[in-house]
Amino acid sequence: MHSSPVILAVDDTPQNLDIIVELLSEFDVRDVVDGRSALEMVNKQPIDLILLDIMMPEMDGYEVCKILKANPKTKHIPVIFITANTDDLAIQKAYDVGASDYISKPVKPQELLARVNTQLKLQALIASLEDMAFHDSLTGILNRRKFFELGSNLFNDTDQIAAVMIDIDKFKRINDSFGHAVGDEVIRRFAHVVSETLPPGVLFGRLGGEEFALLCEHFSEEGVSVWIDSLRKQIESLDLIKNGHKIDFTISNGIAIKETQMENLDDLLNLADEALYEAKNSGRNKTVLISERTRKVT
Ligand SMILES: [Mg+2]
Repeated sequence: MHSSPVILAVDDTPQNLDIIVELLSEFDVRDVVDGRSALEMVNKQPIDLILLDIMMPEMDGYEVCKILKANPKTKHIPVIFITANTDDLAIQKAYDVGASDYISKPVKPQELLARVNTQLKLQALIASLEDMAFHDSLTGILNRRKFFELGSNLFNDTDQIAAVMIDIDKFKRINDSFGHAVGDEVIRRFAHVVSETLPPGVLFGRLGGEEFALLCEHFSEEGVSVWIDSLRKQIESLDLIKNGHKIDFTISNGIAIKETQMENLDDLLNLADEALYEAKNSGRNKTVLISERTRKVT
């Protein structure tokens, strides 16, 4: 949600819009006089709430709402209908096409404000619930479920894709020696360092415990292994002091490149996991890359 919610008011009678704009002066209100302009505007800029007149020439409010709700980009925007016709059928139809609420004409100021505020609060609540459902609470990065959801889409859409599995070395020993609060701090710090160097479009998720994964599209083998190995060195040289102890930790990385016969994201991640296993078994604090052409250890 933006600092000041943006509300779009749609009505073919300009005087009605003037009233709404004045009553909602505490908000950022955009107004348009027909459905087509409304649809154009929602595609151009983020809108938090739509106040929609039903009776309009050419395209009525029902039709505008149907189009909004059929578009994945706009279907989440709550629509409050504003209508002179409040018979049962008209209201039923409003909810059928996806309305969140309705207000009867002539508009009563307190009712308008109350209903607008209720919808904006609901939107903010939904946004924060989604944020919690999609992100790992310790690090703020993608959680396992969201990583797999977005990652599967990326895998299906792209041929050139690299997966990286990362594991914090001997993490159990850190927890056992210094306590779980320090272990959590190590995980947070690691995720923070990676997040800061993350190129746009790269997915970064916590798969569980001390295990993380990255998915990068349009990366060359060389590009991804240089980047990941520099990350490894950066983690190795971190200065993390906690409760007077200097906490040294390292990571092992397994990289795999998408191959033509791979069917899904699991195939790619399994190969990256194989590379990670090799990095761990050959002494840790290493990056191993497996692809059709190469098997490289750095
Ligand atoms: Mg009208």
